Amino acid sequence: MWTGGKRPEADRVAGAVEIDGSGATIVPGMVDSHAHLSMPGGAQWVSHGFAPLDTLLAVGEENGELMVRAGIRWARDVGAPRRPIPEDGGAERAASLVLRDRWRGRLDRPYVRAAGTWLTRSGVLPEGLAVEVEHGADLLAAVRRQLDDGADLVKLYLDGPDADTAPFTAAEVSAAVEVAHQRGAKVAAHATALPGCRVAAEAGIDSVEHGEMLDDDTVALMVSHGVTLVSTLGVEKSWLTFTKTSATGLFVEDQAVTYEERLEIAAESLRLADRAGVRIAAGSDFGGGSLRANQLAWTVEAMIEAGLEPATALAAATWRGGELLGLEHAGRLVPGAPAHFSLVHGDPLSDPTALWRVWLTR
Ligand SMILES: [Zn+2]
Repeated sequence: MWTGGKRPEADRVAGAVEIDGSGATIVPGMVDSHAHLSMPGGAQWVSHGFAPLDTLLAVGEENGELMVRAGIRWARDVGAPRRPIPEDGGAERAASLVLRDRWRGRLDRPYVRAAGTWLTRSGVLPEGLAVEVEHGADLLAAVRRQLDDGADLVKLYLDGPDADTAPFTAAEVSAAVEVAHQRGAKVAAHATALPGCRVAAEAGIDSVEHGEMLDDDTVALMVSHGVTLVSTLGVEKSWLTFTKTSATGLFVEDQAVTYEERLEIAAESLRLADRAGVRIAAGSDFGGGSLRANQLAWTVEAMIEAGLEPATALAAATWRGGELLGLEHAGRLVPGAPAHFSLVHGDPLSDPTALWRVWLTR
């Protein structure tokens, strides 16, 4: 049954195929705004960042396939391990950039915008994973190196090593943003705790990733500086079962807060941002977190459970992500642009679990 507008006549379009989509809803190709293409996810996600290049790239190929089958057509990679790349004469580059370049023009893989390797203060991520920047004064040079490698955006860690202090000042971050913008790139901040979120918002960075402990002042700054919040709320949900399903000690039980409390704190932060009018995009954080490449729907569900309107959460996983990528057509169906869409059983505006029921994707 055609339910809205004038029914197109299939025989008037040469080669058109009529598909019985009854019972389904058309969802534009989704945008995963926080992905780590070269890593597989799971409870031990960090350890996979030490795999050899061949493994990183093979995992990336599997992830790309999983994403497209789940209706996710655009990926924003926000951090990848670096390795010497044989086809670049042994020069070191992030695995995400290799995947991005390989996938150009391929319809069976997502379109990619990729950060290179995470920029952190030392002692934040396990040694050997990130590019460590010892002093704020060295940040600009590190940003330029990522851009020279061909990164579309720069991923800056604004958490730790000291939980109460941001590792770089707002002035240092804002100088980094200026350099990136001059070269047509963007800057994304990993910030879960408040000090880093605050510095990112003050510096007018392009996006705060995770943003799990925002406050009123910070969300107000995010609105006035046009900073997008990329929520990865599915990750906190995925932790809830780890005590039963993961034998290792990555998630220790003597943490000051429980997983349930972590989820609630992050949900409250998301509600605060939404009420203030912050632009919100959605990410799975697969690979760099515990989700897998075809599980962006988990974050959408978690956002709605946290209290966001379904339309806001769906926008976050589609056109808001497109906005953040700087690709206005991404996550939308517009004339003249790539027509990527999925058919999902049910109505995702009243039941977000419909996003798990992709049966056809183009
Ligand atoms: Zn991440």
